[in-house]
Amino acid sequence: MTDQRSLEEAQLAAQWNRVRSRLQSEVGEVEYRTWLRQMTLGGLDGDEITVRLPTRFLRDWVRTHYGDRLNALWQSENRRVRRVDIRVGGNAGDDGLAEPLVVGEPIGEPIAEPIPSGLAASGQPQAAHADPRAELAAALDPRFTFDSFVVGKPNEFAYACARRVAEKPASVGFNPLFLYGGVGLGKTHLMHAIAWELTGDGPRGSVPVSVAYMSAEKFMYRFIAAIRNQSTMEFKEQLRSVDVLMIDDLQFLIGKDATQEEFFHTFNALVDAGKQIVVSADKSPSDLSGLEERVRTRLGCGMVADLHATTFELRVSILEAKAARAGVPVPPKVLEFLAHKITSNVRELEGALNRLIAHANLFGRTITLESTQEVLHDILKAHDRRVTIEEIQRKVAEHWNIRLTDMSSARRARNVARPRQVAMYLAKQLTSRSLPEIGRKFGNRDHTTVMHAVQRVAELMERDASFAEDVELLRRMLES
Ligand code: ADP
Ligand code: MG
Repeated sequence: MTDQRSLEEAQLAAQWNRVRSRLQSEVGEVEYRTWLRQMTLGGLDGDEITVRLPTRFLRDWVRTHYGDRLNALWQSENRRVRRVDIRVGGNAGDDGLAEPLVVGEPIGEPIAEPIPSGLAASGQPQAAHADPRAELAAALDPRFTFDSFVVGKPNEFAYACARRVAEKPASVGFNPLFLYGGVGLGKTHLMHAIAWELTGDGPRGSVPVSVAYMSAEKFMYRFIAAIRNQSTMEFKEQLRSVDVLMIDDLQFLIGKDATQEEFFHTFNALVDAGKQIVVSADKSPSDLSGLEERVRTRLGCGMVADLHATTFELRVSILEAKAARAGVPVPPKVLEFLAHKITSNVRELEGALNRLIAHANLFGRTITLESTQEVLHDILKAHDRRVTIEEIQRKVAEHWNIRLTDMSSARRARNVARPRQVAMYLAKQLTSRSLPEIGRKFGNRDHTTVMHAVQRVAELMERDASFAEDVELLRRMLES
């Protein structure tokens, strides 16, 4: 790095510090801590400053509420700046300049393979020269530790496996560790926790373990950058020299054949050398269709642990833990209300709670059920788009071309009975109605009939892929 460049960077860092402290004194400590503390500086490119935030929720919030202020403050600090770009990106800590060699996890902006040419020129990191330690620290979220992970029935097995790997990497039966589950259920959290445990001041103390963690997307990006820079040997060596390799969101490699191939070789080399691999994906190895057979087989031959959808109890525990951490009293009724309303993923649940807490701090109001409904009305409305049993019946009847009245008729012919069972199944899945309530809507049938239908459809879906597809399609249509 030339002296000129380091001087410029030092100036930029100082300007950034001033922007932040002015913002802080303008908005106050609490508001700053809630929304702005996690901002990091991406850098100055031409006349554009990039500011990063770790989540979309924060990014959107900061954009709408502080975007103009950030713009004005930057322009008054640095005459070159015309625009401030607020983006989702890696959490590089709170201390000024973000590590310039690190790109944040590119969330939701998938890069197609092959990477458009010119990427290497756009100031992106050059894989071979990155400092792996700085890069790891920048890629890990400091909040994602084992301590902050709330354990419950749906995730206790995955948690135990992650713990085990962190204590004793590459032990027999746990290599590779394959974590899978839907969005926002804690896969990334557990992987970061393993990495923190292995590299931090954890109990391992003096045993140095080198860990590489990256999303599959980043793996691909770095691989392709290495090809372009003709540094694939270095790339391979770097990866093969670690003790623990963690690849997050592996499903991203589906259809990316060259990258998949490279991953497979790295994987084999490491496993053969007795090193630990941890992989996450949104599906189990056998369900990752599109991934090469041999890759799937090898992925499935260690420990496969799934993170199940959260239960009401787990959601309440998570909310309790987060509220306690924030040091804000939130009535149990409110926590239960949120856990009831927001069931899809923990990230959204957290977002809702954070907003609630910020609001309470900001206006010095205590949190009540009423204020919750008011503050979160947009989020709650989105989750309220509840499907009705009538809608389900109508859609299912249309799909199989039967009459709507047959949903409640006594006819038992297969061509009528099967769609009816599917409708009951979907009613159970998509509404909060009880079995007796559902039975009543289907011509006053008994709750055991509904239960039987639900089981039957689940069985059939397991056995018959095209039937399963039909049902999934209906579900998606009804949910949207
Ligand atoms: P995934 O990678 O499975 O999509 P993440 O690990 O990113 O999900 O989790 C989403 C958010 O929810 C994170 O902020 C994470 O800390 C939080 N979270 C998920 N599960 C738990 C849990 N069991 N305890 C505490 N926080 C959790
Ligand atoms: Mg994740």
